[in-house]
Amino acid sequence: MNQRKVPFLDMKSPYQELKAELDAAYQRVMESGWYILGEEVKSFEREFAAYCGARHCLGVGNGLEALHLILRGYGIGEGDEVIVPSNTYIATWLAVSYSGARPVPVEPDPRTYNLDPLRVEAAITSRTKAILPVHLYGQPADMDPLLEIAGRHNLKVIEDAAQAQGARYKGRFAGALGHASGFSFYPGKNLGALGDAGAVLTDDDELAEKIRMLRNYGSKVKYYNEYKGYNSRLDELHAAFLRAKLPTLEEWNQRRVKIAEYYVERLSGLPGLTLPHVPEWAEPIWHIFTVLHPRRDELQKYLASQGVDTLIHYPIPPHLSDAYRDMGIPQGTFPIAERIAASELSLPMGPHMSFEDAEYVANAIRRFAEETK
Ligand SMILES: *Cc1c(COP(=O)(O)O)cnc(C)c1O
Repeated sequence: MNQRKVPFLDMKSPYQELKAELDAAYQRVMESGWYILGEEVKSFEREFAAYCGARHCLGVGNGLEALHLILRGYGIGEGDEVIVPSNTYIATWLAVSYSGARPVPVEPDPRTYNLDPLRVEAAITSRTKAILPVHLYGQPADMDPLLEIAGRHNLKVIEDAAQAQGARYKGRFAGALGHASGFSFYPGKNLGALGDAGAVLTDDDELAEKIRMLRNYGSKVKYYNEYKGYNSRLDELHAAFLRAKLPTLEEWNQRRVKIAEYYVERLSGLPGLTLPHVPEWAEPIWHIFTVLHPRRDELQKYLASQGVDTLIHYPIPPHLSDAYRDMGIPQGTFPIAERIAASELSLPMGPHMSFEDAEYVANAIRRFAEETK
């Protein structure tokens, strides 16, 4: 019998659908003979800033460096503290560590999995310089209360928008809500390049100017170096590919919304299964569609046996990873993050997923939930 195979994310169909546009982008760059910081990067920066409603966009090497450059740009480093979610991809924490500052984890709202504003204030000290919320899984964090707290304590709000290209919070774009934001265009993100790429968005003229230099060896004029900068530039080729894909981002996100709606319709009310909670002000773009189940590992194994690929985002919260053992945070310190890590499962999702595949996935989950209740 030929078993159906459902990939976690179809990485081939995007090229099939946009072959003409992507091939033309490639040709343009090849024939221009210009590969670093040229017209493609400038145009993408203009187009992506306009799309999100921000004043400046700076193309950089990847999402981790986007966040790091923002922290450097604001002069945040040694001796400073930055509030981060206890449940996030480790890159959020690493950006803070690279800057020399200390990541201070705060638990998420257990319903939305995003940084809980009610817990943030208790974590603020005289050393706190910024709050770094993540729009996790493509769902916007509750930004208004975070901005209000930041305003009272004179802190920057830096958004990790790596998973949220096109997501809206109260009608406004994720990444254009705080003082600055970092985006990743890693190939698997909703807007993905064909390699590593990232960007910073900000309305802050001074920060934009500084990051423009920091990404390019700390210089504005070649060979005149004002800062000890980095080499973190968005390539012309990736900028051209991103320009080819940006016009379809809205439509591709909407296709994800339809799959998410279908999952919710078919999976609501199953014993043991927790579906994503979407507050009324949030328009998520479903970078990841999560379910929680107390017997997650068995569910994942069962789905694998049915040909369904799933992933866990993320199996180990940063504070329990070997990389952060030096912080000496014992297990049990962040129970919400630890519970999410122990029970989260990410279902197949993407703009090229068929409803037949979604139905197949939903049926398999229904069988598992009924049999194990
Ligand atoms: C992908 C991601 C990053 C890092 O982006 P890269 O481009 O891989 O460096 C940072 N934060 C979150 C939440 C991410 O998902």
